[in-house]
Amino acid sequence: MIEDTVPPKIEKLDIFGVPLAKLDSFAHAEDYIVSRIKAKEKTFCVAINPEKTYLSFSDAKLKEVLNQADLQICDGVGSAIAARWLTGNKVARVTGVQLFLNLMTRAERENLKVFLLGASPDANEGAYNNLLKKHPKLQIVGRQHGYYEDENTVVEHINNVKPDMLFVAMGSPRQEYWIKSHMENLDVSYFMGVGGTFDVVSGKVKWAPKFYRKTGTEFLYRFACEPRKRWRRELLRLKFGLKVIKTKIFGPDKAI
Ligand code: UDP
Repeated sequence: MIEDTVPPKIEKLDIFGVPLAKLDSFAHAEDYIVSRIKAKEKTFCVAINPEKTYLSFSDAKLKEVLNQADLQICDGVGSAIAARWLTGNKVARVTGVQLFLNLMTRAERENLKVFLLGASPDANEGAYNNLLKKHPKLQIVGRQHGYYEDENTVVEHINNVKPDMLFVAMGSPRQEYWIKSHMENLDVSYFMGVGGTFDVVSGKVKWAPKFYRKTGTEFLYRFACEPRKRWRRELLRLKFGLKVIKTKIFGPDKAI
């Protein structure tokens, strides 16, 4: 059982003005999150990847929300490489989908209540059903798809069922803005944007095969599956990579 005292802060690295939590492993992230929930500390977790970091260079609002989050997990392999090359630090890759799945195991074990917000009605319901199949004792106290009409009703629903953890699957950065603008008024401890996770958990979208996940190349698999939807993202990833290489070679001042 995890203690209900506030855990020590996790050191953060600065990757081009975006923080990255120096986590050692998934367990490190999970222990930290569960401790903060038990200590009733509001915690906003955001997944950091090269695309989001690159977008933040020209989007002050995005940069602000990424900085204001409490826990910036290293979701993209490019962010882990950048941390290693530019700061000399090894950061464990803690991907959003896998962290979500691990947190479901923790939530079942520690009796933490979960709310699933976002995705299509089918994917939201499918994710709910599949999670309960795998975790029969998991308390999913509420769920709502991401195409609702009245925001106030959703906020009221969440506050009525008082989850410990709220997962928002509305794509990035919409989900991060949603969390930022509502977390103050929600009686919830843990907030996390999970992108297309419910699509994967429901079986609507195939999770990248293990080989791609292990080698950090899920993006290649996803690009091959949906090139039209993904090409912009790949371009951002490429630009981020070039910036990392330039910074490594010429130093931060000359690499624009
Ligand atoms: N979505 C939603 N409401 C919206 C727009 C999108 O719930 O108004 C959902 C959409 O159904 C999908 C997820 O947000 O389940 C976005 O998934 P995507 O893979 O594009 O997100 P990413 O992880 O790439 O940010």
